[in-house]
Amino acid sequence: MSEFDAIVIGAGPAGASAAIRLASSKKNVLLVEKSDPPGSKNVSGGVLWGSSLSSIIPDWEKSAPVERFVDTKSVAFLTQDSKIGIDFSSKKLQQKKTGYTVLRAKLDQWLARKAKEAGAMVINGVTVEKLHMENGKVTGVEQGGDVITSDAVILCEGANPRVAIDSGLHKRLSDRDVAIGVKEVISLPEATINERFHLKSGAGFACEYVLGYLQNGVEAGGFLYTNKDSISVGIVVSMSHLRQNDATHSFDIIESFTGHPYIAPLLEGGNMQEYSAHLVQEGGIGSMPKLYGNGYMIAGDSAGFSFSNGLVLQGMNYAIDSGIIAADTFIEASKGMDYSESALKLYQDRLESSYVMKDMRTFKGIENVTWSPFVHKKVPAMLESLMLNLFMEEGKPKKHMTGMLLDAMSENDMLKASSIMEAYRMMRRM
Ligand SMILES: Cc1cc2nc3c(=O)[nH]c(=O)nc-3n(C[C@H](O)[C@H](O)[C@H](O)COP(=O)(O)OP(=O)(O)OC[C@H]3O[C@@H](n4cnc5c(N)ncnc54)[C@H](O)[C@@H]3O)c2cc1C
Repeated sequence: MSEFDAIVIGAGPAGASAAIRLASSKKNVLLVEKSDPPGSKNVSGGVLWGSSLSSIIPDWEKSAPVERFVDTKSVAFLTQDSKIGIDFSSKKLQQKKTGYTVLRAKLDQWLARKAKEAGAMVINGVTVEKLHMENGKVTGVEQGGDVITSDAVILCEGANPRVAIDSGLHKRLSDRDVAIGVKEVISLPEATINERFHLKSGAGFACEYVLGYLQNGVEAGGFLYTNKDSISVGIVVSMSHLRQNDATHSFDIIESFTGHPYIAPLLEGGNMQEYSAHLVQEGGIGSMPKLYGNGYMIAGDSAGFSFSNGLVLQGMNYAIDSGIIAADTFIEASKGMDYSESALKLYQDRLESSYVMKDMRTFKGIENVTWSPFVHKKVPAMLESLMLNLFMEEGKPKKHMTGMLLDAMSENDMLKASSIMEAYRMMRRM
């Protein structure tokens, strides 16, 4: 007989959610987390989109340590001298809150506490070294020569799934599967943030940026989110571009972003509270491992569930939902005490009918168009030149807008057949 019904590796959003669901259903569950306290090494931008937590913690919007609800969502292109952006603010976002800024150090501790309160055993500061296998079935975990057994293991290790890779359940990561995120948390008085971003108390601003000014073909996105009394600001840079450009470092890119003439004033007077870096899961469905097998399931970033189209970055919501679906699958399998590959196939089936896998399929290959010179160089340069033509009054005859647009596109080689095809491919994938 196993010591636990289920063992969950990793107390991020995926693992903690799985453990909460399992423990709430009276399953004997062990949640093992390498950092102590949970969340101390975790990084998200981060906006927690959607309301995935409501199925395991109905009052989460009141009880979770969320910072501000997203009241204004923006997207902007930065060139060396300019910012061209779109702001979306709506009373609808105030009435039905769709995203909250969060700090993982607080959120993950709270989630782990919720798992404990539901009845899970939570161990922090312990790194699972490998899976314990018997006759081709996962029957527990190993650490420091000790074996802890369970009927099944749910792997929620995040974007760098070492245990799954070492056990042959996940392929080694390539540069195309991940990007690097670097983030600073800058403290500022709540009143200053409200004034600077034109926010009422509790309301927040979230913006994604395309950093169109970077040199040497390096492509990176930026983000800036307001918390209660701090600002989360960071960049996500393509791993393959960094690799190809020895002279460019991720820390230089974040410095150039926080020092940009249209970002620096937003951070002025603040003090850096946190500096962190983390892998961002990017590979999409193309790098997804087999999600289940004899005695195991894989959820969250480890399973490849994240989505970015340059306008928004989402992963925590998919992590929570996939963790819950894995837990529900375990609960179903426990009725027949069958945790074999064929019983746990239900996990894949349930994911397929959920928005998690549907989104992964809809946006298959999106990373190939979001990381491209077209998005990161041509579009920002074209927009800047269009805006200058529109708004720089020099006492010269004006053109119609279509003429200005065609001029701006032509200046940036966007009327070539190859660029038109690229724009079409991008629109289709987005
Ligand atoms: C810079 C950046 C910005 C982001 N912004 C957003 C955003 O705004 N919104 C959004 O939704 N998503 C965002 N994401 C993505 C989001 O952070 C992830 O999708 C999400 O954290 C995935 O959750 P997870 O539980 O699968 O993995 P993680 O959150 O990575 O949690 C994995 C956990 O497993 C633990 N662990 C790993 N290995 C072991 C082991 N062997 N033994 C024990 N414990 C182990 C880790 O310590 C960690 O606590 C961002 C990511 C980055 C890096």
